[in-house]
Amino acid sequence: MADWRQFLSSAPVGDYVFQDAPYEEQVKRASAWIEEAETILIGAGAGASAAAGLTYSGERFHNDFGEFIEKYGSAYMTDMYAAGFYPFPTQEAKWGYWSKHSMVNRFLPPALPLYRQLYEIVKEKDYFVLTTNVDHQFQKSGFQVERIFATQGDYGNIQCEKGCHRSIYDAGELFGQMDRARQDCLIPSEMVPKCPVCGGHMTMHLRCDQYFVEDEDWHAAAGRYRAFCEKMKGKGGVLLELGVGFNTPAIIRFPFEKMLEENKNLSLIRLNRDEAFIPEDCEGRAVGIGGDMAKAILDLSGCSAHDEKAGD
Ligand SMILES: [Zn+2]
Repeated sequence: MADWRQFLSSAPVGDYVFQDAPYEEQVKRASAWIEEAETILIGAGAGASAAAGLTYSGERFHNDFGEFIEKYGSAYMTDMYAAGFYPFPTQEAKWGYWSKHSMVNRFLPPALPLYRQLYEIVKEKDYFVLTTNVDHQFQKSGFQVERIFATQGDYGNIQCEKGCHRSIYDAGELFGQMDRARQDCLIPSEMVPKCPVCGGHMTMHLRCDQYFVEDEDWHAAAGRYRAFCEKMKGKGGVLLELGVGFNTPAIIRFPFEKMLEENKNLSLIRLNRDEAFIPEDCEGRAVGIGGDMAKAILDLSGCSAHDEKAGD
């Protein structure tokens, strides 16, 4: 696993550049690349869902998790990231929290406009999605399941805590029941799931330790992703990177940069609120658009919608 601090010290940030071209010009350039491209590889990180509205702190957290903040203390319960790491003392408490977290971020939100607009941009193309997001927004927004590789899991599934067998389980119905039965942040003991194989605890299907289960579907999706990358090497196309920071850069950010460097027929569009800098050597084939991603995607999709109309 690459460590980004190591990366930064071996390749200083000076190798990255911020573009000084005006926003409109960058969007225009990116739109032209998208329009020309037959093949688009989307890489989406946490920043994409935050920009879409699934923020983990502030009003959303305080409105939905008030009783958890009260019960466990505001020093620990600062946002949904921190809350997920709280050392819940019992299984009833753990699932009391995670069923809520899952309802709020995975099951209740509809397909959000940012993702729907993104789908409009790529739906006529040969596309593929690589994402570290676990909120199911791509699937909800119309993207084909066979064209998505969600590497880090899904808030809707659970697995054996020790990964004793390679299966994951749909927990949608269970979380709904827990959500209705929860009292004082706890679920009834009879609802606590148990591993059907070893009888031990279950956990969320999220990559947080070495026990993360990579089942058949996961490996099949990984294979389709590799095949898509191979195809792009020959055909060229656009790498469209959304909200990928330096938490897990080894999954999307660095591989995209390597592909860009190695394949002169690829271009990179990087949308990132604060870190939209691009590799200096590839400046002619890379655009980095900072700031409001929802607006940028709207502008990118607006451009193609406008072109379609003009062609009618
Ligand atoms: Zn087990």
